[in-house]
Amino acid sequence: MKKVLILILCCCLVFGFATSCKKSDTAQSTGTGKTFVTIGTGGVTGVYYPAGGAISKIVNKKYDEYKLKVTVESTGGSVFNVNAIMAGDLEFGIVQSDRQAQAFNGEAEWKDKGKQTDLRSVCALHPESVTLLAADDAGIKTIMDLKGKKVNIGNPGSGNRGNAIDALTNAGLDWENDLKAEQLKASEAAKMLQDDRIDAYFYTVGHPSGSFKEATAGRRKVHFVPIENIDDLLNKYSYYAASYIPIKHYPNATNDADVPTYGVKATFCTSAKVSEDIVYVITKEIFENLNDFKALHPAFEILTKESMLEGLTAPLHPGAEKYFKEVGLK
Ligand code: GLU
Repeated sequence: MKKVLILILCCCLVFGFATSCKKSDTAQSTGTGKTFVTIGTGGVTGVYYPAGGAISKIVNKKYDEYKLKVTVESTGGSVFNVNAIMAGDLEFGIVQSDRQAQAFNGEAEWKDKGKQTDLRSVCALHPESVTLLAADDAGIKTIMDLKGKKVNIGNPGSGNRGNAIDALTNAGLDWENDLKAEQLKASEAAKMLQDDRIDAYFYTVGHPSGSFKEATAGRRKVHFVPIENIDDLLNKYSYYAASYIPIKHYPNATNDADVPTYGVKATFCTSAKVSEDIVYVITKEIFENLNDFKALHPAFEILTKESMLEGLTAPLHPGAEKYFKEVGLK
């Protein structure tokens, strides 16, 4: 009798445990009440990867309370992340603000697929600059000098490939005919530049980034190329804003001043199908531990709670909105 009672008690405990944490349609459950979610990031030499790592570190600290485990995956970048979130392969992803707008409105890479109406914003993260780095020996002073050169514009799953094409088009260059465009992952570009296999590469990324640290630390001398005369581009696309590359992060680059360009914001996205509880908990932990979060990467230094609600096109996920309303940010 005693054994039966203990068994019933155990069953109740397990059942209560399993139902106490409402899990998302897409989140992986182990059937023990523990929920696993994954954040899609970018290449390991970018800032998305450490940003995802920072979020997971902060949320996972509260594992005993939430029974929620956040893992991070290195991916091809923004476009890949949107598609993986929409397919239910990832619960979260970091996505450039321009890509978030295009996906939600069914533009660019999503022209044929249509509007990604289930895409949801959680918050904005660090600013990212469209960055062009060239070897000093390749004779590239302006973006126009890329004519005839071997240039990595980025892999098709990246956000930066589209920004590179926009910058080239704005400079009057046809990326398919006027230069030898490589479409490789940004994580390979620094080594390729140092090995003399490309003359320059584009990468839309926060600063400092591992990629440009690596590319500026080699034997081949390199410099950042300004992307100027961009008024038309900024007028045409509201998600672009003027920005600059703070040269203090790269003492080995041969530039002697900050470099003008334009940029976007990194944003943290999810799907309407991910549960309110999970998004609420993650949003709350990021915002309530913002100082710890900021300390995890120098690109996050300038973040403020207010700035983290700017630059979002897709509707806020109800879980994030609930938290922002609770603390008066919305
Ligand atoms: N902005 C890049 C992209 O969307 C990724 C940058 C990073 O990983 O920090 O593909």
